[in-house]
Amino acid sequence: LAQALVARVAIDTTVLTIDKAYDYLIPDTLSYVKIGCRVLVPFGRSNKTTEAIIIAFPEHSVYEKLKTISAVLDSEPVLNEECMKLAFHVRDRSFSTFYSVVKAMIPANYWFKPIISYQKAPDINIEELLIQFSDCKDALLLIQYVSDKEEVSKDSILDLIGEQGESLINEFINSGILIIKQKVQQQVREKRQKLYFLSQEGLTAYSTSNLQGSARNKIAEFLLSAGQATQKEIIYYTGVSSNTLTLMVKKGLVSIDEIEILRTPMPSELEDNPVIELNQNQFEVYVGLSDLLDAQEANCALLHGVTGSGKTLVYIELLKRIISMGKKGIVLVPEISLTPQLLKRFYSHFSGRVAVLHSALSVGERYDEWRRIRQGNVDVVIGTRSAIFAPLDKLGLVIIDEEHEHTYRSESMPRYHALDVAKYRCLQNKALLLLGSATPSIESMYKAKSGIYSLFSLNTRFGGALLPDIIISDSKKNYKNGSPNVIGPELYELLSEAFSKQEQAILLVNRRGSNRHIVCMECGYVPMCINCSVPLKYHSANNRLICHQCGYSQSNIDTCPECKKHNLESVGIGTQLVEAEVHKLFPEIKIIRMDSDTTSGKNSHEIILKDFESGKAQVLVGTQMIAKGLDFENVTVAAVIDADASIYSGDWRGSEQAFSMILQLTGRSGRGFKNGKAVIQTATPSNYVIKAAAEQNYMKFFNDEISLRRELKQPPFTKLITFIVSATIDKEAYTASHRVRSTLKNCIQNKNNKYDILGPAPAAIHKLNNIYRYCITLRGPDCRELRDIVWEILMTYHRKIYGNTSIFADANM
Ligand code: ADP
Ligand code: ZN
Repeated sequence: LAQALVARVAIDTTVLTIDKAYDYLIPDTLSYVKIGCRVLVPFGRSNKTTEAIIIAFPEHSVYEKLKTISAVLDSEPVLNEECMKLAFHVRDRSFSTFYSVVKAMIPANYWFKPIISYQKAPDINIEELLIQFSDCKDALLLIQYVSDKEEVSKDSILDLIGEQGESLINEFINSGILIIKQKVQQQVREKRQKLYFLSQEGLTAYSTSNLQGSARNKIAEFLLSAGQATQKEIIYYTGVSSNTLTLMVKKGLVSIDEIEILRTPMPSELEDNPVIELNQNQFEVYVGLSDLLDAQEANCALLHGVTGSGKTLVYIELLKRIISMGKKGIVLVPEISLTPQLLKRFYSHFSGRVAVLHSALSVGERYDEWRRIRQGNVDVVIGTRSAIFAPLDKLGLVIIDEEHEHTYRSESMPRYHALDVAKYRCLQNKALLLLGSATPSIESMYKAKSGIYSLFSLNTRFGGALLPDIIISDSKKNYKNGSPNVIGPELYELLSEAFSKQEQAILLVNRRGSNRHIVCMECGYVPMCINCSVPLKYHSANNRLICHQCGYSQSNIDTCPECKKHNLESVGIGTQLVEAEVHKLFPEIKIIRMDSDTTSGKNSHEIILKDFESGKAQVLVGTQMIAKGLDFENVTVAAVIDADASIYSGDWRGSEQAFSMILQLTGRSGRGFKNGKAVIQTATPSNYVIKAAAEQNYMKFFNDEISLRRELKQPPFTKLITFIVSATIDKEAYTASHRVRSTLKNCIQNKNNKYDILGPAPAAIHKLNNIYRYCITLRGPDCRELRDIVWEILMTYHRKIYGNTSIFADANM
């Protein structure tokens, strides 16, 4: 067998334009290196030592004068062949660099080598040593230096005595004076653990090079890769002082999540092999899906099942079947669903051969789980988005629960969609992909209806729990009566009644946000974009109405074009306003608010929900995240304060999101919600989304929405890929975005009008941490050519041409 002489590598970078394959010579001494191993190479003109991963061994290189690999970092590949292929696929579809994908696939321990430090051995006598080394100045210095310190880093020793410190350290280690402090002390799992993660501000500051100081950058880089980590881990891997970390927390760059550990439940608490008896409908669905499993071919199925219909039970039975076939499965759930109760269910059924991967694990914990999976000690992996990369062999089944949820789309590089990754893995492994949801995404249901996916449904709640009465409250009427738009008369009455009986209420407000749309308070007319049919957003700065999709704008109107009256209002209600209003109306009632302000820690919503459940307050006001909290016995009123804020969000998915949110809130089968009442407040009660939601009729909504999407050339009939151009100076971002548009226009010229361009338009959040952002959207058939166009634009986008701006592409928006 001829020995490989040339290695092709991908280097560690987040810059797309240099993310190419590079060839290096393999020195004789390193000939054992394999594909999927990481190496160090000299890179660029300055030959900076850079990390890279081997992707191939070409027979020869077209380049002459190759540089040579300087070191091999892994004796065994960190990624196997399947994962390498997967990484290429994800890179291509998410417009990311190869290394960023590889990093997403592997726990942070691989990327961050511990900062080694030393401490004096416990049994040494400093006085004796000082005498013993009395004729060596450096040794004396070192002994004194370590004598009164807990631990010291190598760098600080070298600073103290210079280069020769290196050999002195080794000498001291060999003679047992110094010991290497190697392992971070994994504290025994405490009930509560503080985990640090990068806040949105921190992320923005880091990605725009606005973090001052290399120490801060190190922490940011580490947390970005790790997700969350304990203070000990951060210091251990970055070598940065705890003061820097504290300061970053103070400045809001790093947030702390103090969570009750939901990890591995104690085996003693587990039910022993619980028996499931599926009911008739569940059994039929199970049999249908089992047939797909038995076929052992790549398949995709959609399970449309109302909440509480027993989807989770069907998942568990299918997993049992796949395990009996000698294969394994992955279950993805949204973060908020990953509760101790759910984990307990899974652990009970699979006697501990379960691994949990989610962002609330510390670095060490995630590594432990990852290793268990890789060693083959796990049959079922359950986790959030990135768990789709779990290194399971013999993959037979992937389940994505609540498949419509936004959390499956990554919002930072690599901007992948877990569904996309799952499809590819299932295709490679001849496995079944099962999507489950009470309100499937329009795209998935369309595929199911057209026979691309198999469709199954569970239409009844287990135990036949009743739906609440749903009342539609016209907020135009409230407005006319002089009361503000917040708590209408219907809701006011229900709240009064509930409070008098010591019952609780949940009030849902759409995500915070300053975006407002215009509505006619007489007839309910909402100004829409003439191109895209999404609602125009009101910008007070220039008193204009702007489309956030295509950038179309017009001056604000003061007469309704429908009814000719002059009663137009810009609307949009935040959680704070609702809290204030409830307080005004019911001063004696205690209120808990839950939104991104009050839940700075990723899991603080659990704590808030617990407080609410224990009766510390009678009203819970919050954003979408409370919609799942309805399983409270004492809650008898649930209301969507402003359904329009979602429907008219200005995003082409607005209707879909609104429908799903309303259904989630009003359609919960909760034990205690049997006699509950739900209120939907809207200025447009005849809107198809409201009507279908009030009837809890998904298919009715789907049929209306899909014909609208067809008409408007929106997904699933097209694919949208959005470029986001940003800069610290608004005008620069704006100019650059127009250049992108004209380059794009040239690109699609000879392509038979298959593609068109929307925008530039200001991004939904135009200014984020002093960065201005514009979107340009490319629309066309979902195909190779479309992605090639996007790649071409990204690869030709240079700082030279566009000034101090940056660009990325997102296929998930
Ligand atoms: P989903 O995942 O669709 O929301 P779950 O699987 O969580 O539904 O089921 C909702 C509740 O109904 C659970 O408490 C579950 O134990 C119960 N349940 C559903 N089907 C059955 C069944 N066949 N036998 C016993 N309990 C069931
Ligand atoms: Zn438009």
